[in-house]
Amino acid sequence: MIKANKHYSKLNASYLFSDIAKRVAKFQSDNPDIKIIRLGIGDVTRALPDACIKGFEQGVAEMAKDATFKGYGPEQGYPFLREKIAKFDFQARGADIAPDEIFVSDGAKCDTGNFQELFSPDIKIAIPDPVYPVYLDTNVMAGRTGKYKDGRYDGIVYLDCTKESNFLPKLPETPVDLIYLCFPNNPTGTTISKAELKKWVDYAKETKALILFDAAYEAFIRDNDLPHSIYEIEGAKEVAVEFRSFSKTAGFTGTRCGYTVVPKECMIFDEDGNKVSLHALWQRRQSTKFNGVSYPVQKAAEAIYSEEGRIQIQALASYYLKNAELIRLAMSELGFEFVGGDNSPYIWIDGNGRDSWEFFDMLLTKVGVVCTPGAGFGKCGQGYIRISAFNSRENVEEAMVRMGEVLK
Ligand SMILES: *Cc1c(COP(=O)(O)O)cnc(C)c1O
Repeated sequence: MIKANKHYSKLNASYLFSDIAKRVAKFQSDNPDIKIIRLGIGDVTRALPDACIKGFEQGVAEMAKDATFKGYGPEQGYPFLREKIAKFDFQARGADIAPDEIFVSDGAKCDTGNFQELFSPDIKIAIPDPVYPVYLDTNVMAGRTGKYKDGRYDGIVYLDCTKESNFLPKLPETPVDLIYLCFPNNPTGTTISKAELKKWVDYAKETKALILFDAAYEAFIRDNDLPHSIYEIEGAKEVAVEFRSFSKTAGFTGTRCGYTVVPKECMIFDEDGNKVSLHALWQRRQSTKFNGVSYPVQKAAEAIYSEEGRIQIQALASYYLKNAELIRLAMSELGFEFVGGDNSPYIWIDGNGRDSWEFFDMLLTKVGVVCTPGAGFGKCGQGYIRISAFNSRENVEEAMVRMGEVLK
């Protein structure tokens, strides 16, 4: 008899975004004339930058001729891309990361989800609440949690990110082995200072823990004092892995490319406490289970680092940040408390006593605006909604007018 992975049955039955999609589809079919504005799911809406299109086209043209055709590429990515990433994203910021510490992939969702397989099933995991659901669900699937009850899985150490903590996680009070952090944060849009981040690096060094740092929204940082990479913090190379994605930074959600940095100094431990190279394990994992990102896509990603590419992606992020500013302004005028939206495309709004899903339903059914209910990201998200700045200026402006009508 073929048996199912029993851990899958522990997964919280509702997947947030499919729940939302169902409610939105029902509302649209009941009200076919209303133009719904989607500020919910975190997907970008603007075209790929010109520089990327040129790189893409060049890659495709090379595939058309025997002389320049590419078959399987290196599983870890082509050197031309890894070298540019190391130079522009890390060395330029004083973070000493080498090209062979970079593993190019088809995106940060896969990497943040897959990385946990390198660790023992019995490690203790710390996960912020609210959180990007991938970190949690992939550990549930791997059997690292108990049952789901009252909005939480047994066996996970939750790091509450509440108004009282300025929406930052506090160091865990019980010992943990693996810590997930994401800054600028999805869903709250908050950022972390170098001094705060150093506390986590120091904690990990002291306790032989590891940090998985998701920097998918790095390109939205405008405040010069904020760290773009965890490797700007002294000692981080020994205790941290960093995930990056071109999805939100360069419009690659449908093109698929990102990368993971695993420094060679980063060590984990075997049963007897001997050091094991995390770099070697991830290299082995990727070589076994992954065959690389398509060549034209890597050419498109490389173009991000050209002079015109860098200007264009800066402009792209700035466009969404301007939307975020309009949302912040509208919410202030309506008297709501919120965080995020200044170095991030997300604004995390306190519903002022409203339940998250109630707030969501009100915005959908009264004015046809879709947001994301905060409760879908964890218990601490109850009472909040997330509004995303990923849409056209016109749609954001229109959505703010409509929200003003119902929230005044
Ligand atoms: C969107 C997102 C990602 C990555 O997405 P990919 O498209 O798979 O690269 C990773 N982490 C967070 C927090 C995200 O919001």
